[in-house]
Amino acid sequence: MTKTRVLVLGAGFGGLELTTILSEVFGDTIDIVLIDKSDAFVFGFSKLDVMFGRQVPAAARHPYRDVVKPGVRLLQTAVRSIDPAARRAVTDDGVFEGDVLVVALGADLDPAATPGLVEGGHEFYTVEGAFALRDVLPRFERGPAIVGVTGKSFKCPPAPSETALLLHDYLTARGRREATEISVVMPFGTPIPPSPDTSQAILTAFAERGITFVKDSLVQALDPVRKVAVLTNGTEMPYELFLGVPVHRVPQVVVESGLAAHAYDWVKVNKQTLETSFPGVYAVGDVNGVGTPKAGVFAEGAARVVATAIIAQIQGGPAPDAYKGQGSCYVEFGHSQVGRVDVDFLSGPKPTGTFQPPSEALVAEKVEFGSSRLRRWFGQPPMP
Ligand SMILES: Cc1cc2nc3c(=O)[nH]c(=O)nc-3n(C[C@H](O)[C@H](O)[C@H](O)COP(=O)(O)OP(=O)(O)OC[C@H]3O[C@@H](n4cnc5c(N)ncnc54)[C@H](O)[C@@H]3O)c2cc1C
Repeated sequence: MTKTRVLVLGAGFGGLELTTILSEVFGDTIDIVLIDKSDAFVFGFSKLDVMFGRQVPAAARHPYRDVVKPGVRLLQTAVRSIDPAARRAVTDDGVFEGDVLVVALGADLDPAATPGLVEGGHEFYTVEGAFALRDVLPRFERGPAIVGVTGKSFKCPPAPSETALLLHDYLTARGRREATEISVVMPFGTPIPPSPDTSQAILTAFAERGITFVKDSLVQALDPVRKVAVLTNGTEMPYELFLGVPVHRVPQVVVESGLAAHAYDWVKVNKQTLETSFPGVYAVGDVNGVGTPKAGVFAEGAARVVATAIIAQIQGGPAPDAYKGQGSCYVEFGHSQVGRVDVDFLSGPKPTGTFQPPSEALVAEKVEFGSSRLRRWFGQPPMP
């Protein structure tokens, strides 16, 4: 029997979860090609761990060569063009085609889109940027620190707040907190808009630690000479240390494929199936515009729906339930505390979120979240 060919572009949360499910169900009776330009996977939250010296860089990198699964060929190569009508991708190592094409290339980060950021600040969203901060933070002695968001759509909405709280702990441990000020600039009115309880808990933690929350604002430029951050409303904030969330954009290769009209037009999909306007072509995770936050847990949820659709297509079973846009995010509060917010974006008329306050159990749950993915995707022992 001819094997169904599934071509998956991007081995992040979405691509790894999708291929793991299909391999578990079909073994080597399916032909999956999984393509990624990187040699290793890094959890988003590990970027914070490395930056604040809680984990060494090597421990945060999970090499793709460890992904050994029946039916899956994982290739390290860059995707140069995509033809969705033909379900084909051109890479540095040849041309690949699928009966099904899944685009899971994530969101690209564009620090250069914010004038002055590259020259006069730092960003902690790329692996390189976050890992480099490990050597920058020990030299920060005094003055204002800003954790600033530069674009409306960004991954892991709790991450800027977590960064401010962890920075507070870091500076306190170094005896520098009294000599510094911390502000967070975010484009929302509250830290986590769908969950008022989570937002209130974060704002309370900010107030207890003397962290300033600047709401409904973006940093649109840095002036590295005068050392000021310029907000969208023209306000200037002085800084000694700027930790930026760079502008997120649709990967250029996706724009050129016609799946997106421009750099900020996240791929349109059927909200229930994650299928694009091209039959048999799906977009999962940060690259799509389904309306959920850009986070690994949502990419995984989308991958599960698409995997179920592919299984049904091959085995003739029932179509999957509609994608619900639900996910749980762990929130670092500093002081070794972890809370959790469970959000639901698509079931009701508006997004909702439920907060679980920090607890020992949630610290352990977050560790298990990472460990379980490493076991499933990489066959690795639990994280230390
Ligand atoms: C600081 C920080 C903290 C975070 N914390 C959390 C958290 O606690 N929980 C959570 O759920 N999410 C968290 N996230 C968000 C999470 O990392 C992303 O939302 C998630 O990785 C998205 O999954 P994805 O599969 O859509 O894309 P990605 O995981 O980004 O994967 C896309 C893959 O495509 C590859 N790629 C891109 N372009 C090409 C190309 N041209 N050719 C070949 N390969 C290519 C990339 O190398 C990448 O491996 C965090 C993010 C950050 C930055």
